[in-house]
Amino acid sequence: MKPIQLFVPKYRTEEILEEIRPALEAGWTGPGEKTAQFEAEWRAYTGLENAHFLNSATAGLHLAFTILRDRWGWSEGDEILTTSFTFVSTNHTIVHAGLKPVFADIDEYLCLDPASAAARISPRTRAICFVGLGGHAGRYAQVRELCARHGLRLILDASHMAGTRICGVHAGHGADVAVFSFHAVKNLPTADSGMICFQDPDLDREARKWSWMGINKDTFTRTAGSGLYKWKYDVEHLGFKYHGNAIMASMGLVALRHLDHDNAYRRQLACWYDGALAGCPAVARIPQREEVLNSRHLYQILVEDRDEVVRKLNERAIYPGVHYTDNASYRMYSYAAGTCPRAAHASERVISLPMHLGLSEEDVRRVAAEVQDICR
Ligand SMILES: *Cc1c(COP(=O)(O)O)cnc(C)c1O
Repeated sequence: MKPIQLFVPKYRTEEILEEIRPALEAGWTGPGEKTAQFEAEWRAYTGLENAHFLNSATAGLHLAFTILRDRWGWSEGDEILTTSFTFVSTNHTIVHAGLKPVFADIDEYLCLDPASAAARISPRTRAICFVGLGGHAGRYAQVRELCARHGLRLILDASHMAGTRICGVHAGHGADVAVFSFHAVKNLPTADSGMICFQDPDLDREARKWSWMGINKDTFTRTAGSGLYKWKYDVEHLGFKYHGNAIMASMGLVALRHLDHDNAYRRQLACWYDGALAGCPAVARIPQREEVLNSRHLYQILVEDRDEVVRKLNERAIYPGVHYTDNASYRMYSYAAGTCPRAAHASERVISLPMHLGLSEEDVRRVAAEVQDICR
């Protein structure tokens, strides 16, 4: 039986090689024309005003928390309200920036529940981090209002949201900063890269310095007014090596050209899953919001005896995934154990069914039939 994997990135090899070729022939694979072109095309596609290309979304989240911390004068141990139902990257980067993740619970969309977040606002709360899990927007609009009401910053981990639109507007608008992932298994696959999109152009300029060791090339070119003495620059921050490169940007440019078409096929796959699983009361599906055009990075269900179901699916050559384990169940975040019962509940039951562009309707029907057979 043909194995059915969770994720298989689809690379348009010939198109990618053509896109990379000029960079190789010019002997310039670092940041430059290609990265600038990808940033410009991403801005045009999303309508977001600023975009800086990075080597990952993790780097982007670290920069987001670090730059907002400095901009707003947050101190060590100030709190960021966030979800425990995410990849640890989201919460690690809060800690990396010297801030404290305080978990609020999730709702039926598996996204941050604004009511739970509101109840956990303290005098030290500075921002809310919202994760658009699987491409869902959940109650993002209410979380935005909550931030506005309490003077909190809003960080959107949009790692799953390339192509997600809310009321026709691309995900990322209305957040102080949105961070996208173009990791190989995400729905806009390069090999490894990401994009940080600040609302404030000044912070976009800051991000460009922070992503290259804190180096400020501008200071010198401004004062010297020439390209001479290229090694002379000022260093303003203890920055990082986080910028993206021309090879990844070329892969991103190709993937972006096909993104809407690819996401439409993902929605078709989700629709086939929905239809095939609708009659199975043992399988809980995640509701969709009408105003959201979902990127459909994931197709998730909730079942009892999850580990057993996954084991049996594996026996039948179907290899689903789990996104995610409640972060509060990890030793590192154990201070928050028991604070998010719905996240803990979902964490024991969630399965991500295979979701990628190589799947056919028949594949989806086979997966759904096996799930039903096992869960009956
Ligand atoms: C993948 C992912 C990240 C990290 O993305 P990278 O580009 O791999 O660093 C962050 N948050 C979430 C929710 C993710 O799924």
